[in-house]
Amino acid sequence: MLRQTAMAANPTVRLKPHEGRRVRAGAPWIFSNEIQMDASTKALAPGTLVNAMGDDGRCFGTGTFNPKSLIAIRLLDSAADADIGEAFFATHLARALARRGAFYDEPYYRLVHAEGDFLPGLVIDRFGDTLVVQIGTAGMEALIDPLLAALNGLLAPARVLLKNDAPARALEGLDACVRVAKGSFDGPIAVHENGLRYFAAAQGGQKTGWYYDQRDNRAFMAKLARGKSVLDAFCYAGGFAVAAAKAGAAEATGIDSSAAALALANDAAAANGVGKTAKFVKADAMEELARLAGQGERFDVVIADPPPFVRAKKDLEPGAKAYRKLARLAASVTAESGFLFLASCSHNMPADRFAFECAAGIARAGRRAAQLRHSGTGPDHPICPMLPETAYLKALVYALD
Ligand code: SAH
Repeated sequence: MLRQTAMAANPTVRLKPHEGRRVRAGAPWIFSNEIQMDASTKALAPGTLVNAMGDDGRCFGTGTFNPKSLIAIRLLDSAADADIGEAFFATHLARALARRGAFYDEPYYRLVHAEGDFLPGLVIDRFGDTLVVQIGTAGMEALIDPLLAALNGLLAPARVLLKNDAPARALEGLDACVRVAKGSFDGPIAVHENGLRYFAAAQGGQKTGWYYDQRDNRAFMAKLARGKSVLDAFCYAGGFAVAAAKAGAAEATGIDSSAAALALANDAAAANGVGKTAKFVKADAMEELARLAGQGERFDVVIADPPPFVRAKKDLEPGAKAYRKLARLAASVTAESGFLFLASCSHNMPADRFAFECAAGIARAGRRAAQLRHSGTGPDHPICPMLPETAYLKALVYALD
């Protein structure tokens, strides 16, 4: 006898009357205060797949729901009761892969960038046959098995690391957990970028271990470095400094507070044959910049790519002040006719405010600047056009008189 297994329908989560401004405009997010949080809705387990519906009966599609999170629903598909399984991931991963293939000759890039690739809560960085996966939501955590099956089907990676230790997981009620899902990890992961070799920390490193988001900016700054002295503040594993040294800088100095990051930076300098030109110093970057400025030290090219100073909306004012101070100190050590690169990776720092604080800091240093370039992430970090927050990286290049 043939048995038919009807697919169970998802629970429906309804919006309050007239709510859902952003989702109605096309954004994939529904906020908790927009939802009718009745007892049965509240009782849904974090990560449950739901159908999202407006009070007017409009269906927004299938999404993951977390009653504990401010962003309560993240839409995955515009249809109700969409089948979110291995085939769903296979389709989305194949599209993400094809898009990267259009830009990169080698398989080293961010393969999946969350909402920018229509896979909220999921980041995957690819290092050849090694994948580092970061899961940021309870919804994506619940889908890990079909995700890993689809990744295996598409890429057959040798190694997969689940690097689930981002502090933002706490907002979803998730623990920090780093786990090897496939293969084994010993020592750093090799990175190929802009024709150079770098090393990313696997288990212990920051984020996925490498900041691919600055790839194009590193290449841009390296072009300015030939024959020049370069200072790379907050250098991490040497991304900017090693690229500058390789491009012919007379000297490149990196500053970071992390000894582990500096060890990777030194390895990268050696691997690219610039161990003599690229030097790395362990220090607090703000203090070191102030010290260098006080001693009258000047560099032709200064790069400052700090950690996020505005981690949450409430940190905007103190964070803005810190960006202004950094701009002032960095401008103070920039030589006459030098170039200055300032970046912010804070999602909660609007681009116009960042530019304002940088301009104010440069002026406070008594310098006159021409802004040459305003850029962000490379094309492996697609921005969701309906979510301005996803355009998180702001990078400004100035020429100083
Ligand atoms: N520019 C880097 C990425 C920087 S990430 C790249 O191109 O890859 C931010 C870095 O700032 C981290 O490496 C972190 O260790 C470092 N950091 C954080 N606080 C610091 C401080 N007060 N002084 C120096 N470095 C700091």
